[in-house]
Amino acid sequence: MSDAPLRKNTPALDAFWMPFTANRQFKAAPRMLVAAHGMHYTADDGRQVLDGTAGLWCVNAGHGRRGIAQAVERQLNSLDFAPTFQMGHPIAFEFAEALAEIAPGGPAAGLDRVFFTGSGSESVDTALKIALAYQRAIGQGTRTRLIGRERGYHGVGFGGISVGGIVSNRRAFPQIPGTDHLRHTHDPARNAFTKGQPEHGADLADDLDRLVALHGAETIAACIVEPVAGSTGVLIPPKGYLERLRAACDRHGILLIFDEVISGFGRLGAPFATDFFGVVPDLVTTAKGLTNGTIPMGAVFAKRSVHDALMQGPDGIELFHGYTYSGHPVACAAGLATLEVYREEGLLTRAADLADDWAAAIHDLRGRARVTDIRTIGLIAGIELESRPDAPGKRAYEVFVDCFERGLLIRVTGDIIALSPPLILERAQIGEIVGILGDAIDRVA
Ligand code: PMP
Repeated sequence: MSDAPLRKNTPALDAFWMPFTANRQFKAAPRMLVAAHGMHYTADDGRQVLDGTAGLWCVNAGHGRRGIAQAVERQLNSLDFAPTFQMGHPIAFEFAEALAEIAPGGPAAGLDRVFFTGSGSESVDTALKIALAYQRAIGQGTRTRLIGRERGYHGVGFGGISVGGIVSNRRAFPQIPGTDHLRHTHDPARNAFTKGQPEHGADLADDLDRLVALHGAETIAACIVEPVAGSTGVLIPPKGYLERLRAACDRHGILLIFDEVISGFGRLGAPFATDFFGVVPDLVTTAKGLTNGTIPMGAVFAKRSVHDALMQGPDGIELFHGYTYSGHPVACAAGLATLEVYREEGLLTRAADLADDWAAAIHDLRGRARVTDIRTIGLIAGIELESRPDAPGKRAYEVFVDCFERGLLIRVTGDIIALSPPLILERAQIGEIVGILGDAIDRVA
């Protein structure tokens, strides 16, 4: 149990402009977490709250890992910060090598060149820029167009919102020119209540051919998708879809980017979705589980061939891109210690052992009032509720509040409940999650 003091008195709430939050609503009835250990948060009234979301899809090894804390403290006491622009420090190279050893797709995939960032959004914009720079370097400079997908979430940078497919994240802002979007793969009429990959919809990957016919392949640099879309409600790729998308990209000289910010580091039961689905992209974006959510960090895995194409030409800076915190020594220390925990406890494949029990228990919620669809894969679940016509999103939000009061943290997006517990989840806790959630759904319905 954490010995952090419980903060009984809520601090002043005005100054912190909270991200992706209904600030006025929250501040009228705040929910505060003050400590965390293992599978649980402690709320400010002392209640234990089971973490059904691994924080924000990131605390894959559970909370309060001592090894990570100690590594961070050691690093802060030896080298707190050093630049990586025209300078090096050993731990950044050490962490990149360690990541290359477990790179998506294994050694044959060649995704073993690593560019460090500070977050998922930065990883996405970095991958998009690498793709554009690569096309230019190989004499394909007319390829400047970027393709995303409806209902995709790729963070909040201008690149990420442009290829992303969430209208509320886009409408107040200009987008980078020349993006377009594949149709999303969500088809509840044909694929409702599936465990694992849905049967129908591989042909939706051919939508890339439509965009090629519309714009010309010679204008398209890259196509980015989340292998499993998380933030827009757990959309799982139909059987054969990713294979067909890979083939279409190959046909047209388009780089394929997998955004594995959520699916990376064990969420599906393999180290990466690339391994799980056996489809190899050209670039992979990661963050979140990279450091178990402890120190902000992201990483882009690039195919060696992509990297090497940018290492040609006269001596000089190969890619005019990077961040003050690329390869931050403290984040690298957290990352190395995180990999150690994943390795020692077999967490990168643990979701595979739990997936059947997880799916069976979650699908038991089928038949509850207002539940219109359930989707599960690895240790993820999406549970869709019928929206109230007068107040879309309200029903799931009420379930979220009710769950929190009953001691379970879930995440909701619109009227979809998303679950993604830490990978240290015990079987008994699956029942606990489903029990609390089922009661909350019944009450709200
Ligand atoms: N891509 C995906 C697939 C994500 O799920 C997220 C965050 N949920 C991001 C990018 C953005 O990451 P961050 O919030 O760290 O910028």
